[in-house]
Amino acid sequence: MKNKTKAQNEENRLKELRDRYNEELTRLYTIRKENDLVTEEEENLMFNGDVHFVQDIQGYAGESSNEYQIEKLEEALDNLSVLREETEKEIQTKQYRDLRKEIEAMPQYKIWRDEVLKKFSNKCVVCGSTENIEVDHRYESFYSIVKKCGIINTVQAYECSGLWNINNGAPLCKEHHDQTQSNVYYKKKNST
Ligand SMILES: [Zn+2]
Repeated sequence: MKNKTKAQNEENRLKELRDRYNEELTRLYTIRKENDLVTEEEENLMFNGDVHFVQDIQGYAGESSNEYQIEKLEEALDNLSVLREETEKEIQTKQYRDLRKEIEAMPQYKIWRDEVLKKFSNKCVVCGSTENIEVDHRYESFYSIVKKCGIINTVQAYECSGLWNINNGAPLCKEHHDQTQSNVYYKKKNST
């Protein structure tokens, strides 16, 4: 009688975990889809929560005990929550990158850039080169201005005076731009 109850409890727990896994997976997939982050591999695995579930879990089913499957599902759920956190970070990075691209496409950006170039006669402020010149936000990085002003769209960018301060811009050749702290940090972060 006791064993029967235990088996029943395990059945229930297994069903509960399966449902939760599928639910969480579907939620994660939806968030990734909405943010255009779904890879082709994920598309194949996750277009249906059940498919992923079956591939991930069914390998153990049949031959394994409910107890074992419960353990595996709990692990899988932990992995999903890690993926969820990573997805949040990916979304933030992507949003910042997209916003930056939009801001750089603004006429106001071109005006700021041209004025900075004119001020320094199109020369890298470090070596005087006129080749591959890029314009750097120097004392305060683009990223920190965006964060400080709380910019989330181009109108807010337009209204943030810090972004258009001529004294916060300098031409740098590509080689020296790559050596600036914010670029070194950015590259390190994106290569790991
Ligand atoms: Zn230079």
